[in-house]
Amino acid sequence: MKTSPDVTVVGAGPVGLLLACELALQGVRTTVLERLTARSGTIKAQMISGLTRQMLGMRGLGPAVDAASEREAAGLSWRPTGSTGHFAGLFKLDGLPLVMLSQQALEHILETRAVELGVEIRRGVGVTDLDLGSEYVVGCDGGRSTVRGLAGFDFPGTGPTLTGYQAVVDLDGDVPHGWHRTPTGIHAFGPLKGRIMLIEFDGPPASRDVSRAGLEAALRRVSGLDVRITRVHTATTWTDNTRQATTYRRGSVLLAGDAAHVHSPFGGQGLNLGLQDAVNLGWKLATGDSALIDTYTAERHPVADRVLRNTLAQVALTRPDPRSRELHSLVSDLLDLPEVKARISAMVQGTDIRYDTGCSHPRAGTFVAGLDLSDGKGAVTVVDGLEAVVRPDGYISHIGE
Ligand SMILES: Cc1cc2nc3c(=O)[nH]c(=O)nc-3n(C[C@H](O)[C@H](O)[C@H](O)COP(=O)(O)OP(=O)(O)OC[C@H]3O[C@@H](n4cnc5c(N)ncnc54)[C@H](O)[C@@H]3O)c2cc1C
Repeated sequence: MKTSPDVTVVGAGPVGLLLACELALQGVRTTVLERLTARSGTIKAQMISGLTRQMLGMRGLGPAVDAASEREAAGLSWRPTGSTGHFAGLFKLDGLPLVMLSQQALEHILETRAVELGVEIRRGVGVTDLDLGSEYVVGCDGGRSTVRGLAGFDFPGTGPTLTGYQAVVDLDGDVPHGWHRTPTGIHAFGPLKGRIMLIEFDGPPASRDVSRAGLEAALRRVSGLDVRITRVHTATTWTDNTRQATTYRRGSVLLAGDAAHVHSPFGGQGLNLGLQDAVNLGWKLATGDSALIDTYTAERHPVADRVLRNTLAQVALTRPDPRSRELHSLVSDLLDLPEVKARISAMVQGTDIRYDTGCSHPRAGTFVAGLDLSDGKGAVTVVDGLEAVVRPDGYISHIGE
């Protein structure tokens, strides 16, 4: 007897791969369709949050993540040990340390796991219509999602105002490590050897292509330094286009990750947000229970909305004009206050997320760290001396009476 739906996941980025693992763990027959024939080598995220690390650990992926992070540490020009991330370039946050891990290494771990769990991954298949023969289709196909467009999701928000660059290069000349604000923008160097990040607040990129000469000119303009870029290994542009689908489900079509929400990478939140969407959605979709599946939008939409808003605030704070600089300086002072530090840290790291599970206890709807839920089932455990029923995604559904 058939007990769970078949699901097609569109996109083998980190979110599509983790969602496929989550579905397969629940016994769902899952196919992933990916346009690219091989994993992209373009530099993107280079770290995951402490909360995401705990979630991957809950599924038994902790050792693989830590080993890959350790291997990659050899390629860092300096090691930001204990870093808890930043808000608008203010490295004053508190809480769970970040784990340095390239997006490519994470994708490799997730793809290996998905294949072990029996997921069929078909590369070189660009989806152009939604008639895919499965009961549910989940668009994990990134910020320019085809699935989102085909299914008619609204995607409102604010347009781009800046051009960001991220690249790995060979340099002739010295550039200081860390983040630097200048009268013309922001430049950052490291921790990956040769990695530069630049921001110019002068409108969106004219083109998605980045030339060596164009990157060098931007680096000189922003830093004022006499440096030459002799080789570009990988480069990408990004911007602060900030949009979110109004719902994450239209009938049998769902969205997760960048397909559901886009924003600037300030604070390194996008990858974590998408991975946590996947962990929230997988077990719900596996049940085929429509009302439960709808709680995916109800729980995850407000979380992304808050990230979108805090990234917009970070863009405003980091602009180089005198008024924004003063605002940045004021926020820097405020972040020295323990209460402000704790609140902003929890917001950026997602550690204060509390879903409405219908139970009024303050711990209900919060994440329980350290559980082994590698079988994809929930658990009954003791939290704060009380019996707690934990969902398959590690969040408490009921606690106490
Ligand atoms: C410069 C930069 C730096 C970043 N830094 C950070 C950071 O430090 N921390 C952080 O948390 N986040 C960061 N992010 C954000 C993070 O990279 C994204 O949030 C993440 O890639 C989203 O994953 P995804 O799986 O949703 O989408 P993607 O990674 O975009 O994957 C989508 C996949 O779908 C495929 N696809 C697209 N269309 C189709 C189609 N029609 N048919 C089949 N397949 C299709 C694509 O080829 C791709 O493989 C950064 C992003 C950028 C650009």
